[in-house]
Formats: sequence, structure tokens, C-alpha cells
Amino acid sequence: MSTVKPVHAPMSQFPVIEDCLQIGGIPLTQLAARIGQTPFYAYDRKLLAERVALLRRVLPSAIELHYAMKANPMPALVQHMAGLVDGLDVASQNEMKVALDTGMNPAEISFAGPGKRPPELAAAIAAAITINLESAHELETVARLGREQGRRPRVAVRVNPDFELKASGMKMSGGPKPFGVDAEQVPAVLRRIGELELDFQGFHIFSGSQNLRAEAIVEAHDRTFELALRLATDAPAPIRLLNIGGGFGIPYFPGDTPLDLAPIAANLERWLPEVKARLPEVRVVVELGRYLVGEAGIYVAEVVDRKVSRGHTFLVVNGGLHHHLAASGNFGQVIRKNYPVVVGNRVVGTEREVVSVVGPLCTPLDLLADRMELAQAEVGDLIVVFQSGAYGLTASPAAFLSHPPCVEVLV
Ligand SMILES: *Cc1c(COP(=O)(O)O)cnc(C)c1O
Repeated sequence: MSTVKPVHAPMSQFPVIEDCLQIGGIPLTQLAARIGQTPFYAYDRKLLAERVALLRRVLPSAIELHYAMKANPMPALVQHMAGLVDGLDVASQNEMKVALDTGMNPAEISFAGPGKRPPELAAAIAAAITINLESAHELETVARLGREQGRRPRVAVRVNPDFELKASGMKMSGGPKPFGVDAEQVPAVLRRIGELELDFQGFHIFSGSQNLRAEAIVEAHDRTFELALRLATDAPAPIRLLNIGGGFGIPYFPGDTPLDLAPIAANLERWLPEVKARLPEVRVVVELGRYLVGEAGIYVAEVVDRKVSRGHTFLVVNGGLHHHLAASGNFGQVIRKNYPVVVGNRVVGTEREVVSVVGPLCTPLDLLADRMELAQAEVGDLIVVFQSGAYGLTASPAAFLSHPPCVEVLV
């Protein structure tokens, strides 16, 4: 028999009453009946608000919080977040539409991402949002489109720093990168922004994602502030915006511990007086996706078959990697590990057993839990994948094998 994978850390953000998980105060079984179908994603609005409140409480009050929408662009969720954070970061024209629909002040919306096409840039200029420039070519396109519209585009420079965030889940800076302008080329780009008389706002310096080590984030912030202060000497206008990125991670796997915000907050507190003294008009923004929404969401699929193959029990559910690529281990993970999973309508259960939870797709990649100890489940039971609020549905290949679509609710 194969070995049992370690049990995940217990997820405590969703209460359990009479052995049934509660989402927004509603028993999972009742929520499933209300939705009328499985699979679905459910996001808990109270947990989202509590997460923002935690950051407000711990981080210096001068730090502004932005939500990076690509983590979860569900319109109702973005609308909820818009009432909690100071700004929204979008990565496409469709995300820009959802962001503007919330009523968020366009000045607090920024648009990042390589390969922005002229129609997207024209829409962003007309919307008067901030465009984070990713290249010298993009700068020229923005200037031309601004002239055509008779408007002065609002721009920031996305910098590809000369350092990288250590122990980051996904490295997005340091060496050669498609993202941002290399730090050493930034002075020339700043000069050109001055010549073209664009409305220069400042810098966007993003150095990684999914980091659980506070000391690595502290070090990245140190390097980020040093770099920003150095680059500011070449700026064509006072720096008004300094987006220092995010990178705050959440625990997924056995052995992961929640990020300790205290040293990050203390370090920001230490830097702010000098940053404010040297850049008097600056607003410092921390931009987060996963950390804000990841722990507030679950994915729910229903057991449709239970079979034993040569001594190994499989629960076959009606959802899988086509809705939740990350939980299957195929969204950037090097070694596949189990997301936290429970049987939501019998969390502890009476009997326990070791099973694998697989989806309906005809591929061995469609695996939601590999040899996990769960309550003994039957057909009709609800399998819950925790930590599913970020990079879930929209980060998955929904069309693969042409199964029915998934539903999302904000509870
Ligand atoms: C993806 C992305 C984010 C959000 O990253 P998380 O790890 O979800 O917090 C923030 N900024 C930029 C530029 C991004 O591309």
C-alpha cells in the first residue's frame, strides 16, 4: 500500500457546526441547495473584510492597499473589495471594465502587464487610469495615443529590479524578464517621459509572489526603497506613487506557516520617514492579490463515484483541474502537494480512510487529493478544497474536455 500524505494544518477560518462546514454562517449543504448545482466556488465576504482589517491594523496607516484583480476577478467580489481597499490593479481591458464598474476613482486604478495592445492602452487613457509602462516601445505608443485623444496619459514606470525576492513561489524579477523596464534603462525612459510631457506618477516595483518568509519580504522592501530613491533623482516630476508590490503568501501545504506581518510592518514604519522626507508627495502602495482573497474561498465538488482499484480507494468527483488547476498541482508547482481538503458535510466523520480524490477528466493530472486521510465519504457528499479564493476558476482551463461550467458565489 502506498504511504499516507501528511494531514494539512487544520483550516480554522470556516467554522464547523454539527460536523458541517459553514460559509458566511450558512451550512455547506444548505448553500449547495441554494446554488442548485455542484461544482462551485464560494467566497466569504466577512473573511475578505477581516483580512483587509488585519492589514490596516498591523501595517503603518500611511501604507495604501491595492487589490490585484487577477487573483480573483469575480465582479461581485471585486465590488466588495473596492469598498475595502484604496485602489485596484488590473491586467487587461476586461479587468479594467470590472474595476471601473465598481465606482472606484480611476486615479486609484492602475494597469500593468506586458504586451498591452493599442486599443487597450487607448481605453486606459480615455478612462484616465494609471498605465504602468512595461517598455520603451509601450511608452511611445501611449504618447501617440494620448496625442490622438488630446489627453495627457497618466503613467508610472514598472521597474524590473536588479534583485529578486528570495524563496518566492514565482520569481518575476532579477535577471532578464518580460516584465517592466530594467532598472538600468529607467533613467532614459524617465527622460523620454519628460520630453513627451506625460503625467508621470512614479514607480511600480514588483519582485515576487507567494512568499511566506517575512525576512525575505523585508529584504525586498529594503532593496525596493533604495532603488526607488536612486531612480527618483532622474524623475521628470515629483514621485507621487510608489507601488512596492506584494508577494505576501498564504499557507497551503503541510509545514507551511502563516506569514508573520509584524517584521514587515516594523520595517515599513522604519522606512516611511526617510521616504516621505525625500519624496514629499509620495503615496506608498502595497499591492496584493492572493493574500487578500486566497483564504476566503473554497471550491466544492460532489462525489459521483467511489471505487477501489487494487486496494486503493478513489473518490471520483464532478469537478477537477478544469476548474481548479492550482489544486491539481499543475499551476506552477514543481512538486505536487495536496491542498487542504475535507469532506465538507462530514468534516470529522465517524470512520476515517485514506483516499485519492480525482476529477472527471480523462487524464491522470486530474487529481485533487493524493492519498489523504478524510472522513469516509459516499456518493453525494461534498468535497471541499480550502485556500481556493485566489488563482482558481480564471486560472484554470475551463474548456478542457468540455464539461459544464462552474458557478461562483459571494456569501
Ligand atoms: C500578479 C500580480 C500581483 C499579485 O500577486 P499575488 O501574489 O497574488 O499577491 C501584484 N502585482 C503584479 C504586478 C502582479 O502581476
